[in-house]
Amino acid sequence: MDEHTARWRHRLMRCTVCLWRGPWADAEDAPRVKPKHLEPHEQALQEAYEEKEKAGMQVGQPHAPPCPECGHHLLIVMKKKPGGKH
Ligand SMILES: [Zn+2]
Repeated sequence: MDEHTARWRHRLMRCTVCLWRGPWADAEDAPRVKPKHLEPHEQALQEAYEEKEKAGMQVGQPHAPPCPECGHHLLIVMKKKPGGKH
């Protein structure tokens, strides 16, 4: 693995369907699961996430691994800005 990809492995991810949360590396190293059945409106959302992924890949972002629990899309959890209101 190159350094660029290694950088992403530390990112915290959350699932868009279930409650899974964890580092990118955990999701990537987990065994692949068959994606759970989704309702049509949820499926449409997943396709929208996939489109976003493709856009991200065009700017050099590696394709995010699927959720190790349900097989659907993971999103990167954005870090809170330092110095924000308490
Ligand atoms: Zn999930």
